[in-house]
Amino acid sequence: MGKRYYCDYCDRSFQDNMHNRKKHLNGVQHDRAKKAWFHSFRDAAAILAEEQTKKPCRKFNLTGQCGFGTSCRFSHMTERDMANLEQQIEDEKCQREEPEKRGMSPERSVSDWLSRREKRQAALNSGRVLEEEEEAAPEHSDIPPHLLSIPDLPPSLLPPPPKGWDQAPCTEWG
Ligand SMILES: [Zn+2]
Ligand SMILES: [Zn+2]
Repeated sequence: MGKRYYCDYCDRSFQDNMHNRKKHLNGVQHDRAKKAWFHSFRDAAAILAEEQTKKPCRKFNLTGQCGFGTSCRFSHMTERDMANLEQQIEDEKCQREEPEKRGMSPERSVSDWLSRREKRQAALNSGRVLEEEEEAAPEHSDIPPHLLSIPDLPPSLLPPPPKGWDQAPCTEWG
């Protein structure tokens, strides 16, 4: 029996031993799968940088096609393709720098949530559970509506009930 080695790149597994591993990791198929894997995660900046180091493919420029396709060592990108890429890079940069503009309201921060949670727990510990009902409403509306509309969420992903879970963890027993 023994362990099995699973290769994410190739989506296949084999018996894990030095010989098999070496054979697989040095294989042409694995190399190709690995390159394709990273290729799919490259961002526009990486693509553009790579294209700019290549000379334009003369054949592709003249005839509009080239037998080497995507593996051609010359660039198949037109000036316009490059310009599009640069635009894409700008867009990606904006998205990275201003994540709150993508649907998250700035006031919904973790520290905010923690301080509210602290208050609620203090109320719970003092034994007056009724008090926190006032806070329950705003707490509940905290959840972005589009998340609530996702059907059939597994229980672990469901938001907590408005009043919090029934049982607070009992750490003082024993
Ligand atoms: Zn592999
Ligand atoms: Zn070419």
